[in-house]
Amino acid sequence: MFDTKTRTVVIVGAQWGDEGKGKLVDVLAERADWVVRYQGGANAGHTVHIGEDSFVLHQIPSGILHGGVRCAIGNGVVLDPETLFTEIDELVKDGIDVEGRLYVSDRAHLVMPYHKLVDKESEASKAIGTTGRGIGPAYEDKAGRRGIRVVDLRHPGRLRELVQRGCDTANMRLERFGSAQRADVEQTMTAIERVAPRLLALADDLGVLLHRAVKSGASVLMEGAQGSLLDVDHGTYPFVTSSSTTVGGAATGAGLAPTAIHAALGIVKAYTTRVGNGPLPTELDTELGERIRKLGNEYGATTGRPRRCGWFDSVVVRYASRVNGLTGLAVTKLDVLDTLDRVALCTGYRVGDDVLQEFPADITALEQLSPVYEWMDGWQQSTESARTIADLPRAARAYLDRLESLVDTPIRYVSVGTRRDQIIDVAPQG
Ligand code: GDP
Repeated sequence: MFDTKTRTVVIVGAQWGDEGKGKLVDVLAERADWVVRYQGGANAGHTVHIGEDSFVLHQIPSGILHGGVRCAIGNGVVLDPETLFTEIDELVKDGIDVEGRLYVSDRAHLVMPYHKLVDKESEASKAIGTTGRGIGPAYEDKAGRRGIRVVDLRHPGRLRELVQRGCDTANMRLERFGSAQRADVEQTMTAIERVAPRLLALADDLGVLLHRAVKSGASVLMEGAQGSLLDVDHGTYPFVTSSSTTVGGAATGAGLAPTAIHAALGIVKAYTTRVGNGPLPTELDTELGERIRKLGNEYGATTGRPRRCGWFDSVVVRYASRVNGLTGLAVTKLDVLDTLDRVALCTGYRVGDDVLQEFPADITALEQLSPVYEWMDGWQQSTESARTIADLPRAARAYLDRLESLVDTPIRYVSVGTRRDQIIDVAPQG
C-alpha cells in the first residue's frame, strides 16, 4: 500500500464498524512510520491477534504492537485518560515498549467522569445504543464550546472553571433525566489532577509533528474507528456516532491537510453487521443470521453485544466508496462464509416499482425497502490457508469478482482468518 507516491493512507470502515480495521492496520503498520487515530474514543475496541496473544485496543492505535512505529491520538478523538493509562500499563506489562512512541494531540478533548455518568443515565443514549463510555456527551460539550482539552491541564485555575461548568451542565442534564446521580467538582478535580502530569508528558502539537513527518517522506497510516455508515453526517442519522468517521474526518481529526492524504483503503466484511439500533437493509433475522453471527463470532469487542448480521450490501459500500474516495477495498472474514451452500449480494433496493442504486438519507425509507439479491454458489471449503487469490476456491473468487464490480472499487486485500498471516495481498509490491 505504501510507496513513494502513496505515503499517507487512511484506513476506514466502509460499513457499520467492526469490519476488521484493527487487523489491516496491524498488517500495514509494519511499513508505516506513524499510525494515527483521528476520531472516536474508547468505544472503538480493535482486536489484534498475534500468535497466541490477543490485544483489544480501545484508544491506542494498534500500530503500537509494532516496535519503532510512532503512534498518535489526534485532536478529533475524545480521550479518556483513565482508559488510556490502563491500556498503556497493560501493554507495558506484556513487554510492549510504549515510552517515547505515543503522542497525544494537545487539542484533543477529554472524556470526563461526568460525561460517562450522563451517558449511562440518558435514555436517548440507550435508544441510539451507545457504549456508555461518555463519548457522545464529550462531543456534545466540544460542539457546545465547553469541552476540556488536553492543553487546559496546564492551567489549574482555568481547569477548575471548566470542570465547574462541565459539572453544572452534566447536573442539569442528570436532573432532567430524573437521575439521582450528580457530578462533583472536587471529585472530578482530584481524578483529573491525578492523571494530568502523565497526560501532559504525552501531549504535543500533533499537526506540526505530522506535517514535518509527511514533508520528510515518512509514511503515515490513519486509523479510523467505527464505520462510514455511522458517520455523524453520512451515516444513518440519528443512529450514528458523534464524529466524522469518513476520510474527510481523518484530515480534520489529525490536523493534517486533506491534500496530504494519498490513498483510502475501505475495510468491509464479506457480509454485513451492525451493532445497536438503526436501519440494516440486508439484515437476516433468521437462523441463517444466527449461524453467521456464531461463525463470525459477531459479538462486540467492547460491549459483548451480539451484532446484527446480513448479506453484503453493495449499495452501502458503493456509497462509502464515493463518500470516502476509496482507492481500494480490503474484504475481511471471507472464511466466515466458507460453509454456506449459497451466498447473496445485495445489488439494489426495491421501493415500489423502482430499484434504488444510491443509499438514501431517509431512514424511514431504509426501513421499508426490500433488498434485491443476486445469489451465487457457496464454495464449501476452507479459505483459511489461502495466501494468494489463486489459492481461493473458484466460487469464492467469483464472489469477490462480483463484489468488486458492484462496488466499483478494486480489492487490494482479502482476509481469511483472525491471524496476522491470514491475508491475501492482491497486488503485492516487491
Ligand atoms: P475493527 O473494530 O474494525 O478493528 O473490528 P474488530 O476488531 O472489532 O472486529 C474484527 C474481529 O474480526 C476481530 O476479532 C478480528 O480478529 C476478527 N477478524 C478480522 N479479520 C478476520 C478474518 O478475516 N476472519 C475472521 N474469522 N476473523 C477476522
